[in-house]
Amino acid sequence: NTFAEIDLGEALKANIRRCKYVKPTPVQRYSIPISMAGRDLMACAQTGSGKTAAFCFPIICGIMKAGQPVQRPPRGARTAFPLALILSPTRELSMQIHEEAKKFAYQTGVRVVVAYGGSPINQQLRELERGVEILVATPGRLVDLLERARVSLQMIRYLTLDEADRMLDMGFEPQIRKIVEQMDMPPPGERQTMLFSATFPKEIQRMASDFLSNYILLAV
Ligand code: AMP
Repeated sequence: NTFAEIDLGEALKANIRRCKYVKPTPVQRYSIPISMAGRDLMACAQTGSGKTAAFCFPIICGIMKAGQPVQRPPRGARTAFPLALILSPTRELSMQIHEEAKKFAYQTGVRVVVAYGGSPINQQLRELERGVEILVATPGRLVDLLERARVSLQMIRYLTLDEADRMLDMGFEPQIRKIVEQMDMPPPGERQTMLFSATFPKEIQRMASDFLSNYILLAV
């Protein structure tokens, strides 16, 4: 019933203590063990439910446990190969997720980079060139980066769709499909996907059946 009891690794636990989180919120309490067990997840979660930590902790933990088996791009290479992708609908939400994720990843060696539209791309390109394990992005800007070959999704092991219903309301479904198509790699199940949404219209259910495999539905 406290974070201390969950096997998250010392570095991450120290960061959780620094954030003064003691007890998991309901969505964290149920989703973290599911995600840590490697299962795909569709979770009902509102803003303020603590969903950012719910998807960040298992991702950071998983990347740390894998011990960076990452083929880092050679020095000077211009394509970034993130291991985890967090898609979010807006610049503001992406910035918030980035800020939180950086606190959780402090001194873990896991680098978090954010890319959103409506702001010059050059600074984001420089950040990507310095290396990235977790990329937080809005769908439109990410498609731009993929078209410029500045990001490859070939190495993605974790995909999170945050506020999926809002992304659909904003008309991002074609971009999301384009993005996910670029990371489909055999064998199935290699990629772990988490979908968070406040509502579950049939469009969301269709996305879940297209992008998630053998998933657990969590409604708290
Ligand atoms: P979120 O729903 O991810 O936007 O989180 C809402 C707010 O709750 C943020 O300010 C978080 O830092 C905070 N928060 C998330 N999880 C916890 C927790 N287990 N204990 C205390 N605060 C938390």
